[in-house]
Amino acid sequence: MKKAFFKEASKAQIARKTKVKVASLADIVNLKAGEFTIVDAFTPEGYKDARKFMKHGEEVRVRRFRSSGEAVRYGKTPVQLREDAFDAIRGNEFCGYSFMPFARDRRKRKVSLTACLEGARLFAYSHQVRGAGIKMKAYADARRARIEGAEAVASVPSRTEGHDRHKFKLMAVPIVDIPEKYALAFNLGSDHACGAKRFNIRYRYLDDKESSGVVNFCSHEVAVYLELVQREWEQNKNIVPLQMCMFAIPSQRTVDFYLRLENNVLIKDKAEKGKEALRKPNLAEKEIALWEFVRQYGHDAAFFPKSSRDGSLRKYRWQVE
Ligand SMILES: [Zn+2]
Repeated sequence: MKKAFFKEASKAQIARKTKVKVASLADIVNLKAGEFTIVDAFTPEGYKDARKFMKHGEEVRVRRFRSSGEAVRYGKTPVQLREDAFDAIRGNEFCGYSFMPFARDRRKRKVSLTACLEGARLFAYSHQVRGAGIKMKAYADARRARIEGAEAVASVPSRTEGHDRHKFKLMAVPIVDIPEKYALAFNLGSDHACGAKRFNIRYRYLDDKESSGVVNFCSHEVAVYLELVQREWEQNKNIVPLQMCMFAIPSQRTVDFYLRLENNVLIKDKAEKGKEALRKPNLAEKEIALWEFVRQYGHDAAFFPKSSRDGSLRKYRWQVE
């Protein structure tokens, strides 16, 4: 069972709310707490299920560079590169965004917007609930940190009641303010394994040689990175980990949209035997809805928080009325 902070309304609870119509998917952000809407199923055709889409669907590509030198000369931060990529999307059927490292492993890095949202939620939880804090120790040997980035060993609470914390190490975190940071950011890695990642390993030999080398970041890694961002700023007045953050950080309004997806929307599957089946949005539909939100409102409104508008990420509202 999920911990209270992560609870969503059940299908029955949603169905008891007042049914209203919305003009477009992005408009569900305007639903009131006591309203709900029904949307036709929109898991893309050609994928057996939501997980297959999340694994094989099209990605939004963050600009690729031929070499680390080229990335340094280009001199744009990850959030600027995401702005370019996100604001250029035409459709909404994406399973995440991806970038390529310069490290020897050459494994493509992939991040879903749902992982970014769940990571931000886990980070807020760790600050809003007593005893839930993220434990972390950063190792930044001055000389190595310049070339390879810092390492951080951390433990994050689980979202599930009674489960152990996740312990792992983040690697190649940019922490020193040198030109090479523009390349180093792409090498971000970790030794984390959790449910979602094991699923990927299990499947890679069955149906998917091509993407077997992909590093899929999950919410736990996002939460730990956000914690490191905050500590570096507050303890060392160092902005580099935030400036070089490869994870998209949501605005409060994007969080509100996500919460509406979880608590105010039911999906209607194609009728079988004349029966109308309603269910909650699956992972693929949540991801696609987030991309639609980006398409409609733009990168900055969705994933470039401003303190004057959004306040502190730690204090975001994640509780639904
Ligand atoms: Zn994980």
